[in-house]
Formats: sequence, C-alpha cells, structure tokens
Amino acid sequence: MNKDTPKHQGKRRQLVTVLKQKGIAQVEVLNAIGDIPRHLFLDSSFIDHAYQDKAFPIGAEQTISQPYTVAFQSEQLQLKQGMKVLEIGTGSGYQTAVLCHMGARVYSIERQHELFRTSLKRLPALGFKPKKLIFGDGYKGFPKQAPYDRIIVTAGAPAVPEALLAQLAVGGRMVIPVGDTNQKMTVIARTSDTDFQKLVLGDFRFVPLLGDKN
Ligand code: SAM
Repeated sequence: MNKDTPKHQGKRRQLVTVLKQKGIAQVEVLNAIGDIPRHLFLDSSFIDHAYQDKAFPIGAEQTISQPYTVAFQSEQLQLKQGMKVLEIGTGSGYQTAVLCHMGARVYSIERQHELFRTSLKRLPALGFKPKKLIFGDGYKGFPKQAPYDRIIVTAGAPAVPEALLAQLAVGGRMVIPVGDTNQKMTVIARTSDTDFQKLVLGDFRFVPLLGDKN
C-alpha cells in the first residue's frame, strides 16, 4: 500500500518518543522523523516493521540506517536552514529526505545504480527536492558544487577521504563513521584553510564505504 495512514502516523509518534528517550533532542530532527513516511522508503515486505528502530535491507546488499543513527548524525551536523549539504550514500533516500525536511540544499551521491535510480523517482514523488542526486563515487565528493557547509557520510569509511576534507567549507562540519568493522562516529570541524578539529563520539555499525576496487 503506497500511502500514509493514521496507523503509520501513530507508529511514527511512538518512534519519536523512543528517539527522545535515547537522547535525541533537536526539534527539527524529531519533526522530520515524525513527518516522513519511512515505510515508503522500504520494500513492501518490511512495511509493517518500518517504525521499529532498526536498519533494514534495501537491495544491492545495502541498508536503510536505523532511525536512531539517522537522527544522531542529523543532530550532530548542527544544520541550519539553507545550508549546502553533501551526503555520501543516498541509499533509500530516507536520510536525504530528513535533510531536505530540515531545510538543507542537498547534494547526495550513491554508488549503486539500482538505488540511485529508485531514489531519483522516489524523493520527488514524496515531495522532497534535493538539489541533485548524483550517481558516482562518494570518495571523490562532488567538487563542482564545493565548498559544502556540511558533509554527512552514511557508510563506514576506513579513513576520512582527503577529497571530502578539501570540499568542506571553512566553518563547516562533517559527520562520518570511521573504522572497518565497527565505526566511531567522528565529527570534523574545519576551523581554517589548514586546520581541522576532530571529535570522536560513540560506536556505530555501518555497511562499508566502497572504493574503486570493491
Ligand atoms: N542514507 C541511507 C538511507 O537513508 O537509506 C543509508 C545508506 S547505507 C547505510 C550506505 C549507502 O552508501 C549505500 O546505499 C551504499 O551503496 C552507499 N555507498 C557505499 N560506498 C559508496 C561510495 N563510495 N559512494 C557513494 N555511495 C556509497
């Protein structure tokens, strides 16, 4: 069933309560999770489970992240209306929708063509208008539109890609899970042309950011 119903809306309110209990406090993030029909970003076989705080398969051996992870990364971005955001790993498009809902101008890159194609149709059909969805390798970023006020990486990176550091605006902030099997959520603030400050937060588990050879 391809629509939103009071039943889904009720489940979303419960999910928002769960996220608040887990420490998510930013109103704009909670409003986005409360408004966006996550069940429409999933295969119909998972539709009844869409508002559990869990990751689910989305095809191409990839996952839609757990809502808590989406909320945590979105909050750590310290996003303001109108900011230019680069997202690496469009996946289902759900995180992209959250960023759009929060008023960001979003450029999002996906490496799996099947997922890219689905999001290209799905996001506008649900009323979300990212600036551009890009089929390509997120390791390289999207230099054409750099610098970005915010960069969010939604797959586990063995190390912070140099190209992404170069495309972060001075005063900008990147949220990226760093590590091989488990990742440390890492926030990088660019304080000048040459200086970056790093803050390491909790442990998360992501599918890997794939490079040229994978
Ligand atoms: N944000 C997504 C969502 O809300 O559904 C979840 C993303 S999933 C955890 C990670 C995504 O990163 C996958 O869709 C995967 O194909 C993509 N990915 C992996 N390596 C990539 C790369 N080098 N460039 C762009 N996307 C990549």
